Amino acid sequence: MQCSKCRRDAVIYQRYSGLHLCEQHFNRDLEAKAKRAIREHRWIASGDTVAVALSGGKDSSAVLYFLHRLLHERRDVRLMAITVDEGIGGYRDPARARAIAERIGVPWVTASFREEYGVTLDEIVARKGTGLSCSYCGVLRRALLNRVAREEGVTKFAYGFTLDDEAQSVLMNVLRGDPYRLTRPVREVAGFVPRIKPFMYIPEREVALYAFFHVEGFDLAGCPYAADALRGDVRGILDAYTYRHPATKYSLVNLGEALRNPEQPPEGGLRVCERCGEPCGEVCRACQVLDEVRRGA
Ligand code: SF4
Repeated sequence: MQCSKCRRDAVIYQRYSGLHLCEQHFNRDLEAKAKRAIREHRWIASGDTVAVALSGGKDSSAVLYFLHRLLHERRDVRLMAITVDEGIGGYRDPARARAIAERIGVPWVTASFREEYGVTLDEIVARKGTGLSCSYCGVLRRALLNRVAREEGVTKFAYGFTLDDEAQSVLMNVLRGDPYRLTRPVREVAGFVPRIKPFMYIPEREVALYAFFHVEGFDLAGCPYAADALRGDVRGILDAYTYRHPATKYSLVNLGEALRNPEQPPEGGLRVCERCGEPCGEVCRACQVLDEVRRGA
């Protein structure tokens, strides 16, 4: 099939736009959408240090490559990558993330659950079972990333979240009947490094293709503990529905953005954890999780 914009062979068909795109026009289209997301949200400003939370998977590797292309000539914005080693055997080898950052040419730092908390995720799962693995992992990783980012002078955290991730999150919050998360605004909270998501309007399959074209050696393995049943169900429902109604994921993401209420106070008020000093919108979950793990509760 020919590209809708030139005579070259198409590498992808976008059902939602009706366009067939060659590699060159596909790259241009994806990068234009990511730049527009950054511009519209005013995500990057002069003086920023942007850190990509680099797992070594396709999405975070792709966003690191894209941001390097976007920012490498700017002297007023710094880009780096931070990798957290949760300690999951056979998954997320930090050496892979390091090699990707080095090939792209971006400074890289790492931190681990073992060094920070004295326990790996594998050990937590051995004590607590797999039921809450993602919950423990997410809380501890976020707290560790936030601490390292502040030490490194990071002002923005870039994630490789895609349109699919964002749409799934909105629908999950609807299915859970969770008005707080649906209407919670994105805002800057003292001590928390703000998050940016340049690929939030780009389908996962396009981010994967972009990574395939530009990043060597990204990780294709899935986490052995990825057992979030609701997200898996929602992904299946959404993918099937989007096949017949191609704009559905965009509609959900737009709904999520429209619902965010800047007047809503943070749940539990703003506090600083008495134990670790980290900021928290609720009682510090990282310290609670570590207590539970150590007690074997
Ligand atoms: Fe952690 Fe769950 Fe992601 Fe695995 S799938 S890395 S356990 S949050």
